[in-house]
Amino acid sequence: MALEIRPNCENCGKPVAAGSAKVYICSFERTYCANCAENKLNMRCAGCGGALVQRPVRSRALLAKYPAANRNGHKPQKAKKIKP
Ligand SMILES: [Zn+2]
Ligand SMILES: [Zn+2]
Repeated sequence: MALEIRPNCENCGKPVAAGSAKVYICSFERTYCANCAENKLNMRCAGCGGALVQRPVRSRALLAKYPAANRNGHKPQKAKKIKP
């Protein structure tokens, strides 16, 4: 099974670029931005406590073939209702 390239930081919800090397994951593929991993979490996963490692970068060609996940680790944002 391919590594799931998640689109958002699990901690702050900030989008992380699929092609960015400054993205960290734990063994359960929880994904964190560099700021959270390095400064807030001290390179430990907030979920399982495991070590965070740099996520391998998936090349553009491979991303076309195996697209990044569009599933968000966070709860899906509810669409804002526009009041009449
Ligand atoms: Zn973050
Ligand atoms: Zn974890």
